[in-house]
Amino acid sequence: MQKTDCDQTARSSHYCLQGLFRMSNQTIRLQLPNDRVKHRFPDIEDIIKRLLFSPGDGEIWLDQQRMLLLHSAAIASLRRELIETLGSDKARGLLSRMGYQSGARDADMVRREHRNRNDFDAFAVGPQLHALEGFMSIETIVQEVDSETGHYYGEYIWHNSAEAEEHLRAHGRSASPVCWMQQGYANGYLSSFLGRQMLVREVECKAMGHATCRIIGKAVEQWDAPENDLRYLQAQDFVQSPNNRQVNFQRSGDPVSAKINLVGISSGFNTVCHMIQRVAPTQATVLFLGESGVGKEQFARTLHNISERAAQTFVAINCAAIPEQLIESELFGVEKGGYSGASQSRPGRFERADGGTLFLDEIGTLSLVAQGKLLRALQEGEIERIGDTKVRKVDVRIVAATNEDLRKQVEAGKFRDDLFYRLNVFPVQIPPLRERKEDILLLVEHFLNRFCALHKCQVTGFTESAIEALMRYGWPGNIRELENLIERGVILAPDGGAIDIDHLFTSGEKLGAAPSAKEPAPSSSTVNGNVPQLADALHAALADSQISLDELEEIAVNEALSLAAGNVSSAAKILGTTRARVAYRLSGKKVPHPAE
Ligand SMILES: [Zn+2]
Repeated sequence: MQKTDCDQTARSSHYCLQGLFRMSNQTIRLQLPNDRVKHRFPDIEDIIKRLLFSPGDGEIWLDQQRMLLLHSAAIASLRRELIETLGSDKARGLLSRMGYQSGARDADMVRREHRNRNDFDAFAVGPQLHALEGFMSIETIVQEVDSETGHYYGEYIWHNSAEAEEHLRAHGRSASPVCWMQQGYANGYLSSFLGRQMLVREVECKAMGHATCRIIGKAVEQWDAPENDLRYLQAQDFVQSPNNRQVNFQRSGDPVSAKINLVGISSGFNTVCHMIQRVAPTQATVLFLGESGVGKEQFARTLHNISERAAQTFVAINCAAIPEQLIESELFGVEKGGYSGASQSRPGRFERADGGTLFLDEIGTLSLVAQGKLLRALQEGEIERIGDTKVRKVDVRIVAATNEDLRKQVEAGKFRDDLFYRLNVFPVQIPPLRERKEDILLLVEHFLNRFCALHKCQVTGFTESAIEALMRYGWPGNIRELENLIERGVILAPDGGAIDIDHLFTSGEKLGAAPSAKEPAPSSSTVNGNVPQLADALHAALADSQISLDELEEIAVNEALSLAAGNVSSAAKILGTTRARVAYRLSGKKVPHPAE
């Protein structure tokens, strides 16, 4: 981006965010004149076209996201009740996280749908969406971006803030800013769009008696006491707050930071946190379910760390990693001469975990014999070492995990049903990473800090295409895969530079149906190249039997769905249409075109 272009843009429309991700060492600073002209963002029509009302189905879609049209008075009364029942602090947390998720989702959509636009136009979609969703309108005062140093500074005015107006009505003038949900949205949008944790703070608020609300956004480390704002993004106090991640890493020997090892903000993540918070103080057996790499052991450790057994040991064993003939001696111990080769007695994991927690990962792989012994240990609280006649009492809390469907294993006779019911007292399903996209960038930043410190690398962040790819990738290996990729990126990226897509996806990861930022999007000519053959086949089919246009569309949708492995959004992408249209087709209704 050349300076002159930037000046040109600035003169014509009072903004400039060019060069956001490009390597440029120029700092762009823009100060509007005193007669602040309310900034109009371009292309609001484009977004409005993506808004689809389908009263027949009871659905509203904004692009691929289902929306709700709610009365602001109803939200206001919910807000009021939250404040009255939970207090301002907890209410603020709930509303901030709700806003953050909306903002992060909108940023994800913008990145996906506006990848070919210039940075400013893409970035501007967020404030437009927020305005379209009815919260307020936004005016840009200052925006500074220097991608070379990762510098960002933004100052904006919110006009007609719905939250401030409601707060004034319900609670009168406030001593501090009150636009919590909107602040959460801005934090979620900005952080997700820029690919690192940013903090937007409301410095003036209409509810405090100012003429408008004014917000400032900059990197977390540039704020005084960012924890005062960021703590509202954590649902539970054992979740790691974004601002102290690096600090915690540097003090990784510190038992308190070792205790905090969970990062996330999505509703799926918060549900899991809420469940472990509830079950931790009890003695109940907990069963974590979820794909491999979703962090089952991390959750199990956290569960132990916040339980009454925290001072005792946490012993983990991966049942799948130990040969079948050794698993029993590993778990229950062995007495000298217990089997050939057992030259001395040694305790098993059960005994070592006495008083503490035993984490049994991949429990579905246990042999039936080991399952029987485990059941006895669970029921009677006692174990027998191999080759021993003595029964030993153990006080162990069992936390198990599996990525298999244990019910199916039971039906197939591979898993004891009585053990299954014992373990299934408190099942906790951990969603895969692809279903909690809001957590991706928080995790990315967490691992970036960790590996930069570990490998002593200076990496400024990620390029736009790298962030886009990180958000779009399906993460079959979940958090473990993300962790490995970030470590690889930190090592491969040039010192003092940014991590690019080529530093991350180097070992054949499939980036999905959508083209990566470096590949050109399939041009219409490629698509049309298949059309003559398709027309021939259609001609034959039509001559053979009469097919209605409806049936044709149904076939196309079904084929796309099968290509997309049943994922409606991906099928819509293949068909070059919206998720809503495919969803309508699936519900067996006539497909309204957005233009209709
Ligand atoms: Zn406000």
